[in-house]
Amino acid sequence: MKDFKDLTREERRAALKALGQQSFREGQIFEWICRGARSFDEMSNLSKELRASLSDSYTLGSLSVEVEQISSDGTRKYLLGLPDGNSVEAVLMRYEYGNSLCISTQVGCRMGCSFCASTIGGKLRDLKAWEMLDEFVRAEKYTGEPVNHLVLMGIGEPFDNYAEVSEFLRRIHDKDGKNLSFRSITVSTCGLVPKIYSFAEDFPQVNLAISLHAATQEKRERLMPVAKAYRLDELIKACREVSEKTGRRVSFEYTLIAGKNDGDEDAREIISLLRGMLCHVNLIPLNPVRETGLSASTRKRAEEFRDKLEKGGIPATVRRTLGSDIDAACGQLRKKASANAHHPG
Ligand code: SAH
Repeated sequence: MKDFKDLTREERRAALKALGQQSFREGQIFEWICRGARSFDEMSNLSKELRASLSDSYTLGSLSVEVEQISSDGTRKYLLGLPDGNSVEAVLMRYEYGNSLCISTQVGCRMGCSFCASTIGGKLRDLKAWEMLDEFVRAEKYTGEPVNHLVLMGIGEPFDNYAEVSEFLRRIHDKDGKNLSFRSITVSTCGLVPKIYSFAEDFPQVNLAISLHAATQEKRERLMPVAKAYRLDELIKACREVSEKTGRRVSFEYTLIAGKNDGDEDAREIISLLRGMLCHVNLIPLNPVRETGLSASTRKRAEEFRDKLEKGGIPATVRRTLGSDIDAACGQLRKKASANAHHPG
């Protein structure tokens, strides 16, 4: 049986028409889905007959909260179970300007970044648009709090799952549902250049973040194998074109790894690489992942590094480390859960 949430708006309308329904029903049902209904039976403004025929024809999948970790700073991390038994992570962070949710886009990742936990077991599958929407819906329903900002920076590479991510962005923006503005959303990529161009065409208002982590081709290849396929000069050219076209700032994430990319020379390389671009650099002290053997730069070093960038004319901030007392680095909670599943007791 097909899942009703797997249907696009046009397909949902057609499905309801086939059941003899008027088109406004589609909006009502989508609203219920976005409010976290787990069954057609909960949809109390539909007739009993319609609820029954929908249940006869379609499943209505949903994610379930399997683990919740609450940090002393209020950050909440969720391990979310998918209908096929896999799981992904979402993190809710509280800021002065509201709640920000970080969601996953794939089960695992195949990009192979050397410092990242999500990629260790490879990619198992892409998430569907409805599963990403359900990460958002579950987080709101579970906490009883609205989410104001959304970042696609959890497990997975959004541009390696472009079609479903695009459909998800259209659904979360839909006025019958969450009606989240595109400007409140940030998509982060390790640098799949052709998709960066498509994205700027398709979603010019959505914020773009690029995982940079090194400012020379050679160093970047060592940390991020994707740099071999999409070279740093091509990536930066794309970023310059996108920021000129959209008039929007591109953010660069730069994870500071002690002795690997946090030297004075690295700061100078960033300055010359990004000179003149409308951009911002987000410095993130590494969240150490045991298997990688890499360690974080100190807070002091991160601040010095930021000052060097700022002096060189590159706006930069050191990200507040949230949730460091829980398994906050993406992929760590999922890895732990699957290890426990494989080795009970
Ligand atoms: N695949 C996308 C989005 C997911 S990763 C991307 O690469 O942008 C989100 C961000 O977290 C990326 O900048 C990634 O490089 C960074 N990251 C991954 N592992 C990390 C770790 N252990 N510590 C700090 N940042 C990490």
